[in-house]
Amino acid sequence: MEHFKKIIDGKKYSEEFLQKLHPLSTEFFKNFNRKPCLAVILVGDNTASSIYVKNKVRTAKKNGIRSVEVILSRNVSEEDLLNEIFKLNDDQNVDGILVQLPLPIHISERKIINNISPIKDVDGFHPTNFGKLFLGDPNFIPCTPLGCFYMLKNELKVLSGKNAVIIGRSNIVGKPMASLLLSSNCSVTITHSKTENLREHCKKADILISAVGIPEMVDDTYVKQDAIIIDVGINRLQFVNSETKANETKLVGDVNFKKVVDIAKKITPVPGGVGPMTIACLMHNTIKAAYKNKKENFANFLGENF
Ligand code: NDP
Repeated sequence: MEHFKKIIDGKKYSEEFLQKLHPLSTEFFKNFNRKPCLAVILVGDNTASSIYVKNKVRTAKKNGIRSVEVILSRNVSEEDLLNEIFKLNDDQNVDGILVQLPLPIHISERKIINNISPIKDVDGFHPTNFGKLFLGDPNFIPCTPLGCFYMLKNELKVLSGKNAVIIGRSNIVGKPMASLLLSSNCSVTITHSKTENLREHCKKADILISAVGIPEMVDDTYVKQDAIIIDVGINRLQFVNSETKANETKLVGDVNFKKVVDIAKKITPVPGGVGPMTIACLMHNTIKAAYKNKKENFANFLGENF
């Protein structure tokens, strides 16, 4: 099959997703005379984090969501950051709160996340929301796994009975991804840096999801014929442009696209795969938070569990 037919186009998926979402923010504005509102807290000047925040704010604006940016110095104390969160928790006009990770090492990420009100926790990282997801009664589902799940559901229609292997066990990606797939009756294996015979596990996957953070680690020796591959990894590689001799940076995934594309049935590219869907799902969670804030039902096109 031609390679372009194998691509799971995250950009296209996200555009369609946002098109379905937009009427819900318009409707919210009509009913409550204000837009759904997302507060984004950025600590420090990490380039990647600043880019992510800009993208989130831009997408919010385009989709009828007001955003409030709280930008703090990298030396901000944990106490001052917590006070910002308490203010946003109490602000009735703020529906969702997101703290861009990673935080500087003098601040406990866990403590910060635990203090975001669970009803405003649009990242889905608060223990209440994390627990609810694992109990099969989700409230806010972490955006990256939700985006991956949405694309998988659309590509495969039926997930039941599939062997899913996830590389990476982070709270942001691997664990919630496993919960979502399990709730769709996949048989799920979570692998990590201590897994023995990683390739053998991966070779059994009908669905292979990589969230490792090692550039192009997953090659053809990890992939079963006709597997569906979701590459969550975003890795910045420095290289020297052979024509201009300038130092440049490019984004690559965890998967060596060229080596696996002939074997895989479908694959997400990097960039243009999981990234755009992550942001679209953040918009979804924010609008959902806004409706819940107003004690309104959220007419959810994803189905009642989302
Ligand atoms: P973490 O660093 O939190 O987790 C990485 C996981 O990979 C860990 O569980 C680790 O194992 C495992 N791992 C590391 N080395 C190996 C190895 N050699 N073999 C098998 N497993 C290994 O990362 P995140 O989950 O936060 O992110 C993973 C990647 O996804 C990154 O590139 C990140 O930039 C990207 N990302 C992309 C998003 C998007 O929107 N597209 C959103 C979030 C993340 P152990 O637990 O044993 O240490």
